[in-house]
Amino acid sequence: LEALDVESIREEFPILEREFDGQQVVYLDNAATTQTPDAVVDAMSDYYRESNANVHRGIHHLSQEASILYEEAHDRVAEFINADGREEIIFTKNTTESENLLAYSWGLNELEPGDRVVLTEMEHHASLVTWQQIAHQTGADVEYIRVDDTGRLDMDHARELIDDDAAIVSAVHVSNTLGTVNPVSELTDLAHEHGALSFIDGAQAVPNRPVDVEEIDADFYAFSGHKMAGPTGIGVLYGKQELLEELQPYLYGGGMIRKVTFEDSTWGDLPWKFEPGTPPIAEAVGLHAAIDWLEDIGMDRIRAHEEELAAYAYDRLEAEGDVEIYGPEGGPDRGGLVSFNIDGVHAHDLASIMNDHTVAVRAGDHCTQPLHDKLGVAASTRASFYVYNTREEVDKMVAALDDARQLFS
Ligand code: PMP
Repeated sequence: LEALDVESIREEFPILEREFDGQQVVYLDNAATTQTPDAVVDAMSDYYRESNANVHRGIHHLSQEASILYEEAHDRVAEFINADGREEIIFTKNTTESENLLAYSWGLNELEPGDRVVLTEMEHHASLVTWQQIAHQTGADVEYIRVDDTGRLDMDHARELIDDDAAIVSAVHVSNTLGTVNPVSELTDLAHEHGALSFIDGAQAVPNRPVDVEEIDADFYAFSGHKMAGPTGIGVLYGKQELLEELQPYLYGGGMIRKVTFEDSTWGDLPWKFEPGTPPIAEAVGLHAAIDWLEDIGMDRIRAHEEELAAYAYDRLEAEGDVEIYGPEGGPDRGGLVSFNIDGVHAHDLASIMNDHTVAVRAGDHCTQPLHDKLGVAASTRASFYVYNTREEVDKMVAALDDARQLFS
């Protein structure tokens, strides 16, 4: 694979030129939100300047144009993840809303006492809290597939938990804390062998590796626009058409109905049945542009770049001697992020010292509190990479560790 031309990619991100206190920003908080290239910003401003109107196929030219753009964005997403068509692509606000949509539409209606919801110990709160609360309401049980000492899932434990009582297996594709790339096809196969559904949280996978929902055979798959060079305010829930046809909507209103009387209502076609109200139209246009932009670079090359940077960061941090790194060593089992702690320094203090060097990292529990409890720490510092990051930026982050040691020892 040909390496990325990072220098020319960076030119498409003016924000990376920002300086604070005379130092250029080193942006390593991409697992939270990625930066947005000019192509995406331009697509959205062009939309507002030239095509803005409400969708749902109004009679006038602008509404028809906006409707086509909005519908085509669904087609583009379907093509990108190899879904069968726009019927399988529901636009939401973000991954969190995609999780909630399924949990309310399917979980609240279908789960019963005795049913098991199988999660992993490395789930993001978006999935963990959602299923936990729906389980409380329905009387279902929640069980968690163990994470082993290397930060990988204990697949023997997975085989124990995914039995005929399992109703759904909901697993994160790439952990936003450990960086672990999980065997989601295997988990999906296990779910299907026992008549359970599979839901994959792809928030940290779709941005930086080729994802083929048909190959994984996931029943449902979710991700966010703002972590893949796209805008905030739009997320995706993919679902197999035959399953979505059966599901009750979870939000009601205009644009999603077929027939309404004072007594009752019937639902419109997929995916509109799950998209009531005025949807994120400009954001859909932006997501479409982001996918074009990413595929222009090539998802294989993006994955290789991120794996390489994560492995480099892992090795550099490990060589420091006093850094504890969570999750698998660099390689195909790790996505483009590294979470760590340094002896004697709180993660928040470390992130704040890094910020003094204009190195942007995240400190906290990264919405995986139970996982941090298991790791025996309240928080960790996380560096996460994207297409525009370089080894030199990793070096700057590692150099800041010395300041932290001096201040806190
Ligand atoms: N799942 C994972 C694995 C994530 O990393 C995130 C974002 N941190 C989410 C879900 C939630 O994404 P959003 O905030 O866009 O809803």
